[in-house]
Amino acid sequence: MPLTGIAIFKLLPKTNCGECGVPTCLAFAMNLAGGKAELAACPYISEETKAQLAEASAPPIRPVTIGTGDKALTVGGETVLFRHEKRFENPCGFALLISDTMDDAEVDARLKKLKELQFERIGLTLRPDLVAIKDGSGDSAKFEALANKVKQNTDYGIILMSDNPDVLAAGLKACADRKPLLYAATKDNLEAVANLAQEHSCPVAAKASDLEELVQLTTELTEAGIKDIVLDSGARALRQAFEDQIVIRSAALTKKFRPLGFPTIVFPAEMTDDTMKEVLIASVFVAKYGGIIVLSDFHGESLFPLLVERLNIYTDPQRPLMTTEGIYEIGGPDENSPVLITTNFSLTYFIVSGEIETSKIPAYLLVMNTDGLSVMTSWAAGTFVSDNIAAFIKKSGVVDKVKHRKLIIPGYIAMESGGIEDDLKDWEVSVGPREAAHIPAYLKMWKP
Ligand code: SF4
Repeated sequence: MPLTGIAIFKLLPKTNCGECGVPTCLAFAMNLAGGKAELAACPYISEETKAQLAEASAPPIRPVTIGTGDKALTVGGETVLFRHEKRFENPCGFALLISDTMDDAEVDARLKKLKELQFERIGLTLRPDLVAIKDGSGDSAKFEALANKVKQNTDYGIILMSDNPDVLAAGLKACADRKPLLYAATKDNLEAVANLAQEHSCPVAAKASDLEELVQLTTELTEAGIKDIVLDSGARALRQAFEDQIVIRSAALTKKFRPLGFPTIVFPAEMTDDTMKEVLIASVFVAKYGGIIVLSDFHGESLFPLLVERLNIYTDPQRPLMTTEGIYEIGGPDENSPVLITTNFSLTYFIVSGEIETSKIPAYLLVMNTDGLSVMTSWAAGTFVSDNIAAFIKKSGVVDKVKHRKLIIPGYIAMESGGIEDDLKDWEVSVGPREAAHIPAYLKMWKP
């Protein structure tokens, strides 16, 4: 059983030195009990006490890593039910299914898609994460050959999928060094799959027919010394699978129920034959609370919205995505190039900079720190207003870059009521296009 905050407090040094980031040992103990602090944050805990507290300080949902290197995926580690309480920690992973019953051309096409389907958005690269290699043939040699091919052609994480431990062992021969997820330990093969996981230090998925059986499986795996477990409740109907996700997350977080304190894997690929429905089902699990989401295929038009949904769900709602304040040179501008200014809300920055690029007119884009608020919101909040803009222009150093003194503020409706001329006397200021999409046409007419 996890320790209470008071029980943890009794084991702490009680010096209230504050080095752990909170002012008292009691506050630290409470955070530790709630999974909101790491034991390592206190440098004064003895090794003996650390061992005692290990259980209590473990996050209620264990983070599990699949793969190695830059493309390793960590899922789990969550501490809250709702993202307005605190941000979600580790974005779910999308896996592409490849079966050893597919012909070479189909396998090659899928591996090619994995490489190609990457999207740039607000300065981030959005991409899928895993390849799920499925044993459809029951042939160990075929499975091993496919695992080998996947390993050679992608550095994404790998899921080895078979109920047969011998087939899993064959897959491990090809890619054990990539620390794949072994899917799955069931009530019929648990010991053999657990041994494989132990031998190769790989995470393992527990697959049950319902939650009760799942608890039994994870308890047995834990007793066998397996720590990195991923949960499959076995449900393949949306309603049941959705309910299971909620129960698992709630039990782990609100009851600190360790047998369900692991990330989950869900299979929209096995819930429908309709591609569009599959994507809709996947979108449900992005929101609640799929850890790994296995899809039957990837298509740009359906993967992209899922990646954007994931980005939104796993973005800290209390900290807007921000771009660094400064002067951004787009297209190699010179002393006669136009100067535009906008706020440092990432979406605004990337929309405006994208439209400038589209115009093919080299320009300077000044990005002013408005705590990540958009033009309209920061204007309403009193940050993107004339005196602040004037002060920023002066300190930005843009006057050393251009001979003219013309400033364009796209979408700044407050300009219509005037005011900025008083604060920015040497500059001729124009509101510019109200819509970002009009920036290219506007810039084409611009003259220094
Ligand atoms: Fe207490 Fe350790 Fe935090 Fe210091 S660093 S306040 S001793 S818990």
